[in-house]
Amino acid sequence: MITKTRICIVGAGPVGALMSILLARRGIEVSVFECRPDMRRVDIPAGRSINLALANRGINALEKVGLMNTISEYLIPMRGRMIHDEAGNTSLQAYGNKPQEVIFSASRGELNKTLLNAAESAGVRVEFDLRCEQLDLAGKKIVLVDERNGKVRETNYDLIIGADGAGSAVRKAISALTGGDVSEDILGHGYKELTIPAGPNGEFLLDRNALHIWPRGGYMLIALPNPDGSFTATLFLPNEGEESFASLQSNESVEAFFDLRFSDVVPLVADLTGNFLKNPTGMLGTIRCFPWRYRGDALLIGDAAHAIVPFHGQGMNAGFEDCVALDGCLDRHGADWRNVFAEFEAERKPNAEAIADMALENYVEMRDSVRDPKFLLKKELAWKLEELYPESFIPRYSMVMFHQVPYAEAYRRGKLQAAVLEELTDSANSIDDIDFAQAKRLIEERIL
Ligand SMILES: Cc1cc2nc3c(=O)[nH]c(=O)nc-3n(C[C@H](O)[C@H](O)[C@H](O)COP(=O)(O)OP(=O)(O)OC[C@H]3O[C@@H](n4cnc5c(N)ncnc54)[C@H](O)[C@@H]3O)c2cc1C
Repeated sequence: MITKTRICIVGAGPVGALMSILLARRGIEVSVFECRPDMRRVDIPAGRSINLALANRGINALEKVGLMNTISEYLIPMRGRMIHDEAGNTSLQAYGNKPQEVIFSASRGELNKTLLNAAESAGVRVEFDLRCEQLDLAGKKIVLVDERNGKVRETNYDLIIGADGAGSAVRKAISALTGGDVSEDILGHGYKELTIPAGPNGEFLLDRNALHIWPRGGYMLIALPNPDGSFTATLFLPNEGEESFASLQSNESVEAFFDLRFSDVVPLVADLTGNFLKNPTGMLGTIRCFPWRYRGDALLIGDAAHAIVPFHGQGMNAGFEDCVALDGCLDRHGADWRNVFAEFEAERKPNAEAIADMALENYVEMRDSVRDPKFLLKKELAWKLEELYPESFIPRYSMVMFHQVPYAEAYRRGKLQAAVLEELTDSANSIDDIDFAQAKRLIEERIL
């Protein structure tokens, strides 16, 4: 037990809330400061995706704090991508090779509320409507502003953890003091959410156990199921250009665009043009920074350290994995915080880099490659090779979503595997054309 430390966490999003539970269970006094109102009492717009994909890494973390049973109640398994082509035809591309290889659509709000309840039960003090305005890292002092009345409060702490998301105030303080590097690469594409309501009897109007994608080459629409029978659809589109958020500013242009590109969706979406014009357009980007810590006094986790684009459905999963990793460092180093933070940073930084890159690559896969017969052949072959050589060949998507192979290792092995798949399918049109003796040789030579 590490009882003499007072830790302050900035941000009660999913990652801050989960980390607070793990720390409190060690007997540490934990306070969490969150600038938004308490979402369990006030209805606040989610701000970001209403639902998100939960996969193995996130599940592992939730199991560690014993919350998976509670959370399972509102999860919807998605067994693959349901591709909707421009003619309105659909085809399912399974995510994995085994029945248990599914990902789950989870309500962001419910997940966060469950974590907050568990945090308070574990003894964490969570205070809402308090924004971290300023941080004196050298003096270990935080300045908080009450969002309700503007009152300013100063609090001392022993350690501070920044779980305050992509716009992190803690990150700004650390980089200002350490002269660290921060890069914010804003994607030229943004996103907008729309709702596909349930049918008249509460039924799902699309297959409920799939993540739906309308890939259109340069952009795409996706939809994830919600327990009430609705789907949350998200349009990812360039910000500027002929077909872009900038060009869709009127009822007529929105209607014409959807009629042309997503005609099968038009009758499903609630007040399509009204909501399209009313709902905000979100920004997407990748944040990379270093260092993630100031001595043994301050640390960044989750999006505050590594915000990524959402195309691998891994941002929160990666943040949850951060929490498990930090907990592991505490097992090894106890209250030697400088070593705890140093080991955490050394372990997680390369993994964060890898998932950031894979998430960017996955945008092209989702919006374009899924329509390419060669992509499908490679996928089929990758599964066959996984069946034949389970110890040495696991498709990259599976390593990221269904395993806990470190992201950096998944990225490294994925590149080797991609080259093997490319070579084997070079002149093949179907799986029957594959030379499996060559496959065995290439795997032994290049991957083992
Ligand atoms: C469109 C979209 C789809 C996504 N889909 C997925 C998905 O399918 N799967 C997945 O794993 N991830 C997904 N993500 C990523 C995921 O949302 C984030 O990785 C995750 O929310 C990060 O959690 P966090 O707790 O680190 O940060 P956040 O969720 O951003 O929480 C940070 C918290 O800190 C608070 N805060 C901020 N500044 C301050 C301050 N100065 N003082 C006090 N409080 C502060 C904020 O109010 C917030 O509550 C998606 C993201 C987007 C945008």
